[in-house]
Amino acid sequence: MPKDKLKIGIYELTGCAGDALLIVDCEEELVNIFTAASIEAFLMAKSDNRHGELDVALVEGSVSTEKEKEELLDIRKRARVVVAIGGCACVGGPQAAFLDKKEWEKNLKKVYGNIEFSHSRPLQSKPIDAYIKVDCYLPGCPIGKAQFLSTFARMVNGNPPELFRFPVCVECKWHENDCLLNKDILCLGPLTLAGCGSVCPNFNVPCFGCWGPTEEANRTSEYYLLREKGFDTEVIKNRMANYSGTRITEFFEQFRKEKR
Ligand code: SF4
Ligand code: SF4
Repeated sequence: MPKDKLKIGIYELTGCAGDALLIVDCEEELVNIFTAASIEAFLMAKSDNRHGELDVALVEGSVSTEKEKEELLDIRKRARVVVAIGGCACVGGPQAAFLDKKEWEKNLKKVYGNIEFSHSRPLQSKPIDAYIKVDCYLPGCPIGKAQFLSTFARMVNGNPPELFRFPVCVECKWHENDCLLNKDILCLGPLTLAGCGSVCPNFNVPCFGCWGPTEEANRTSEYYLLREKGFDTEVIKNRMANYSGTRITEFFEQFRKEKR
């Protein structure tokens, strides 16, 4: 155990605050979390938040306003290590699922009309690595308790996190489930990062991809498989975009170029 406690800040940008809530919800472990490290800032849990140098910043949520962008740049300047926590910070989340800027502008206008934004200018929602270097990604919607506690414990003991890199299908096989794709049900398990314990397919519900895409996800292969099963391109695209945020935009752009 290092002599000096790590200084950790926990921050929330645009999202449902589910990741911060999950941390607060670690009821039995909460005292240990607050004693193992010096929690410098955590708006949901304490009022005496400090604004200094940090060893680690855990950042939840996507960037969707100019003010959040400035806040994030400031966090990066103060923190040695930045960890993106949850789907919105890692890949943009559902609010980044728009496939192009025009669609985002159309939707913004549909919701807010011609209102003038005086507090902060809205930006098209993006994951935090669109603006800063991220050192580690902790996926999930929200993050899983076991994976968070293991990452936290490793960090305060000076070790790098150990995260799953394989897809949900692996966990699904551990549970000996019948594959839903064989029943012509649109399941995104092959593209999605493991960690949730394949909780949906365990109950015959297809994976919607809420833990975000695996690095090595073969989207082209899943796309053609789903097309063969009769699913429409728009349906596949929208389903994949739900939680993959900007990552899916990049995929479809590249896919279009390759097809030309
Ligand atoms: S049901 Fe879904 S998660 Fe399970 S093996 Fe099939 S595709 Fe993968
Ligand atoms: S949608 Fe997929 S990644 Fe999300 S909890 Fe269900 S099985 Fe896990």
